[in-house]
Amino acid sequence: MKDKKQEVKELLEYQLGDIEVGIKFHQRYNQPFDPLGDSFTEMLHACMYDTLCMGSGGSGWDTYDKGESKFSNRLQSRNCNSCKTWDGRVNKNGKKIWNYKKVMFFLSKCPVCGSEDLGKYSKDSRFGIASKSHLEYIDEMKGYRLTLLEPETFDSECRVFHLRSWFIETKDKYLTEYATRQFNSPKSNGINFMPLGQDFYRSSPCLHLDATISKDGVEINYLNTENKEPEIGDEKFYKLSVEEIMNKKSFGKERGELSR
Ligand SMILES: [Zn+2]
Repeated sequence: MKDKKQEVKELLEYQLGDIEVGIKFHQRYNQPFDPLGDSFTEMLHACMYDTLCMGSGGSGWDTYDKGESKFSNRLQSRNCNSCKTWDGRVNKNGKKIWNYKKVMFFLSKCPVCGSEDLGKYSKDSRFGIASKSHLEYIDEMKGYRLTLLEPETFDSECRVFHLRSWFIETKDKYLTEYATRQFNSPKSNGINFMPLGQDFYRSSPCLHLDATISKDGVEINYLNTENKEPEIGDEKFYKLSVEEIMNKKSFGKERGELSR
């Protein structure tokens, strides 16, 4: 595994480049810092799993070994509480829905109005898993390679990041049940799959990569693409049966319903 660790480290360091310079430019123009992204993580997985990308983005499998790569970045923007506007919409409880100006992760002040009154950092990132393709390709697709980039601390001064990648096999019982229910619901095809949440842990994610990213480069803490031991989350995630969890889900009925 020693050479593979080096290969993964070199690929990540090439992609990340000088993160201090990268952050500086993104701060200057208030652009979210997303140095890895979907397309790169497919390449990262090709490296980790000794396979190749398909050579065409967006069609067919992500890699020749029929893996599906998903990426989520928690270096998300905050809202500026001082500059918000109302476009006339209210939610179903009659409360106004405000549009906030977004302030990128590494700024401590709003670049538009200068206010330091910023909202909380959102941890609301999702892995985009489609229930239709899950069920359609269940016999062919090997599984999901879920990669998460997180700051060490949710703080604009943070310059140390954590990158992890897990594998969930397509035929995982929990995820397949979720996909089936989602697909049969009248609502969207997309599964609301939050990293490190209940659905994530109940789907038996096996850790394959753990790395620390800092201005000094990338440290590979763990790399084992053969690991079949699922990670265990907080005990609160295991109190209900699969059936009970599914029955509690709204399958998108409550989210995003707006009225004018
Ligand atoms: Zn502002």
